[in-house]
Amino acid sequence: MIRITELRLPLDHPEEALREAVLARLNIPAEDLKSLHVARRGYDARKRGHIVLVYNVDCDVADEAAVLAAHEGDQHVRPTPDTTYHPPEATLPEGMPRPVVIGAGPCGIMAALTLAQAGLKPIIIERGKDVKARTVDTFALWRKSVLTPESNVQFGEGGAGTFSDGKLYSGVSDPRHLGRHVLEEFVRAGAPEEILTISKPHIGTFRLVTMVMFIR
Ligand SMILES: Cc1cc2nc3c(=O)[nH]c(=O)nc-3n(C[C@H](O)[C@H](O)[C@H](O)COP(=O)(O)OP(=O)(O)OC[C@H]3O[C@@H](n4cnc5c(N)ncnc54)[C@H](O)[C@@H]3O)c2cc1C
Repeated sequence: MIRITELRLPLDHPEEALREAVLARLNIPAEDLKSLHVARRGYDARKRGHIVLVYNVDCDVADEAAVLAAHEGDQHVRPTPDTTYHPPEATLPEGMPRPVVIGAGPCGIMAALTLAQAGLKPIIIERGKDVKARTVDTFALWRKSVLTPESNVQFGEGGAGTFSDGKLYSGVSDPRHLGRHVLEEFVRAGAPEEILTISKPHIGTFRLVTMVMFIR
């Protein structure tokens, strides 16, 4: 696969324009482009009145080596990076206690999920209530001003941002594509699939509650 980055198209471009832009960028005939897949779609809105869509596109082409050779030195035409998650190999020595994760916020949940997927059977200790009971307590605060100190918008399964709209973008450098793995787990748990491609994804208000239950 070849990844083209920074492919710019007008905001209102017709669907087929993306394929045409790929053919023009790679300088190949239509029959050589076997498939294309949008890896990321963002916006460049720096120029007022000239907002453009910016795509990263993965392309399957007839002769990949030839196309890459023809674009040698072009930093926007490269082999598609491997973004699949490679879990660490882990085994617990005989008699070792099960790992314990304190807190079921985003960090604890992902840590526990990763440990569980590695077969290590983590035990999660969470001071607040499970996410469904916590939803009731949180609404009691918002609607009736009744505070339950251990189960509220901050504390409980799901962690601090559970009742937000789930903004997912991050400015951290992520050369190992670990963020992608988190997004894939979110999609498995019910998040919209578009979070895998759009540049500033949101999960959507209150979806996190059922996602947290699914992941648990
Ligand atoms: C209203 C709101 C909206 C937000 N919206 C977004 C957003 O859209 N996008 C975004 O990226 N971030 C958002 N955030 C920030 C995000 O929620 C936090 O960055 C994130 O929750 C931090 O995760 P964490 O696992 O480190 O900690 P927390 O989420 O704080 O999780 C810690 C967990 O540990 C538990 N705990 C604490 N002490 C103990 C103890 N002694 N024993 C057992 N359990 C314990 C807590 O109950 C909690 O469940 C928002 C935060 C808030 C408050």
